Amino acid sequence: MFITELRTGRARGDWEEVLALARALPLEELKRRADAACRRVHGDGVWLRGLIEISNVCPWDCWYCGLRASNGQVRRYRLEAEEIRATVRAGFEAGLRTFVLQGGEDPLWGAETMARLLGQLTEETRGEAAFTLSLGLQSRATYALWRRAGACRYLMRFETADPALFARYRPGTTLAERLRGLNDLAELDYEVGSGFLVGLPGETESTRQANWRLCWEQGFDMVGIGPFIPHPETPLGTAPQEPLSLAEESTAVVRLLLPEAHLPATTAAGSLHPRGREAVLAGGANVLMPNLTPVSVKKDYLLYPNKICVGESGLDCIGCLDLRVRTLGKRLRAGAGSAPRRQERAPAGGPG
Ligand code: SAH
Ligand code: SF4
Repeated sequence: MFITELRTGRARGDWEEVLALARALPLEELKRRADAACRRVHGDGVWLRGLIEISNVCPWDCWYCGLRASNGQVRRYRLEAEEIRATVRAGFEAGLRTFVLQGGEDPLWGAETMARLLGQLTEETRGEAAFTLSLGLQSRATYALWRRAGACRYLMRFETADPALFARYRPGTTLAERLRGLNDLAELDYEVGSGFLVGLPGETESTRQANWRLCWEQGFDMVGIGPFIPHPETPLGTAPQEPLSLAEESTAVVRLLLPEAHLPATTAAGSLHPRGREAVLAGGANVLMPNLTPVSVKKDYLLYPNKICVGESGLDCIGCLDLRVRTLGKRLRAGAGSAPRRQERAPAGGPG
């Protein structure tokens, strides 16, 4: 396949060629090619990222999300800094070297508080762990502060590349603002993760193509592709559940477009189907995110219903994930697993 170089040195597939494959090939063949592309760059490794859901408080009212401010059924929580530090310590001792702190845009987790926590976490893990934030749209100054304090990656999905759908489903914000945030993050030297939901009501084949195209143009370091799962306490609660195959297709296409990107097999895929994560790992994904959130609050972070593993500790899940990836001829890796374009600058890894 013809590969072009992005400004940043990342390789990418040829847009027209990949689009033609997506149109012509049956899903299983598309996935086979995506798996081959994935193995060429990433080998048989599946990186582990420990996810910590630090707060479910959010002022926004996204139509698709169970944590939206108007959902009065949610028992709101915010973890204390000490709980987060203890969770990272336990994960670090178990060998994990990447931690993702995710949450609603909780104003109490303000810029300075988060910066202090990042400083402590970096010190406590002796600079050997990578810290990823997923705390939504913030000012450039806040992103810069967090970068200086020790965060090196940021995840913020653009959700849908259709500006009208975006504006409808994320009232009060625009796609352009979200893209501005992603651009700030890239300029501040973060590894940038974005991505999209598949199966949103109103989405069409051409929306999905626009989603792929945006990922290709931006050359994201990480792309999260989640099947949309309707949550009953939201305005989209009665929308139909689209099949997992849409997420499998998008994962395979994005892998062919961005061979170097890290693509998670999402918990949403695992929640939609018992072997959903395996289905996407077999066709281009190379990351799993065990959920380390303390069990006492895990069931309160329901972006969507029927989320898996909310009753057990994330560290206990790793054994189960290990068995699952082995069935695919892959193996778990616990190192920092930076973007290939900057691996020589990555923090020293763990067992991986
Ligand atoms: N508040 C931050 C991060 C938390 S939400 C933000 O919005 O960026 C994390 C992700 O959950 C979102 O990017 C969205 O893609 C996903 N999500 C929300 N509701 C969902 C649903 N009903 N089904 C599947 N994924 C969902
Ligand atoms: Fe808040 Fe993120 Fe959910 Fe939107 S998707 S309501 S910003 S947690």
